[in-house]
Amino acid sequence: MSKIYMDHAATTYVKPEVLEAMMPYFSEKFGNGSSIHSEGREAKKALEAARQSIAQALGAKPTEIYFTSGGSESDNWAIKGAAFSRMDQGKHIIISAIEHHAVLDPCHYLKKFGFEITELKVDEDGLINLDDLKKAIRDDTVLVSIMTANNEIGTIQPVEEAAKIAHEKGVLFHTDAVQAVGQIPIDLSNSAIDLLSISGHKLYALNGVGALYIKDGVEIDNLIHGGAQERNRRAGTENIACIVGLGKAFELAKSNMESESKRLTVLRDKLIQSVLAEIPESRLNGHPTKRLPNNVNFSFKNVDGEAILINLDLMGIACSTGSACTSACTGPSYVLQALGMEYRWTNGSVRLTLGARTTEEDIDTVVGALKETMNRLRMITFKA
Ligand SMILES: *Cc1c(COP(=O)(O)O)cnc(C)c1O
Repeated sequence: MSKIYMDHAATTYVKPEVLEAMMPYFSEKFGNGSSIHSEGREAKKALEAARQSIAQALGAKPTEIYFTSGGSESDNWAIKGAAFSRMDQGKHIIISAIEHHAVLDPCHYLKKFGFEITELKVDEDGLINLDDLKKAIRDDTVLVSIMTANNEIGTIQPVEEAAKIAHEKGVLFHTDAVQAVGQIPIDLSNSAIDLLSISGHKLYALNGVGALYIKDGVEIDNLIHGGAQERNRRAGTENIACIVGLGKAFELAKSNMESESKRLTVLRDKLIQSVLAEIPESRLNGHPTKRLPNNVNFSFKNVDGEAILINLDLMGIACSTGSACTSACTGPSYVLQALGMEYRWTNGSVRLTLGARTTEEDIDTVVGALKETMNRLRMITFKA
């Protein structure tokens, strides 16, 4: 049985070119980037080359890229760093109701220090309303954080417009771009975005590495204290091999994003149209067009999402219900609930996320498998 991996929003494999670029830094080129000797200088050179590649792909300056241990750290640093550095100006933060837990949970934690959090509602497609944002900004608002694209439903938010609104009121703007990077164009050269989070393992690099973009001149408190790495802003001996891989992944993404996004959008829409046409009582979650090229999220009425998942897994298809987290957490997804959906729809949700190796044949196989699964599960429901 050939396996079909349709869970690239949870994690991607490491591309062979990325692995190849990383390999020397595990053995021959093992220097510490802070050492003076030639081994150290070689590591430092690789670190700065990766920083340059990432900056170039994002329209940023190399001095604006800071390496971290991943998307969660970048989000935590941006939120807590901005909050603690500005707490004498105010203690109010605005986010959307469908942020990733790496944004939601630091905000929840900040309540201990007296911060108030406003969660903007989203519409039935998962979009925030910019007027709501304008109205929510107060004199004591210090940070707005809205994700570029949602990890469960793929909806792409108007972050540039949101950032401009925040800036007009002198408020910092952060975006979690973990799902968007490498899939849709991001150009920070003329942007109002102050802080942007990146993760390696959603982009064909390794997990445990990421970056935070901090616009030149933006001051936020440090999260990890210790050594003088990352220009005194993020302590810890750099993970050179993984950082080199992240740089390579950005180079690859930059060179083929346009054609790959088009290819994935065609496959995505084929999957959506086939399922909606061929499986009764199915619906698409998230915005029909303002969505990531690789994201599909369906709901099947009165069917259990986990049962669908297990059936598909037995047929060699890997996907997820909602986010990767919701498979460990119980209850319906908070993202789908925020869209205003009822339980008999939210319970039967399946997220299928395409990637660089996904073929048209895979899509046909998945459609067939979903039909078969739904027939079987709905038969059981009917008999019971
Ligand atoms: C995966 C993900 C994160 C967390 O990134 P890690 O590198 O796994 O810590 C944060 N935000 C979004 C939107 C994600 O999809």
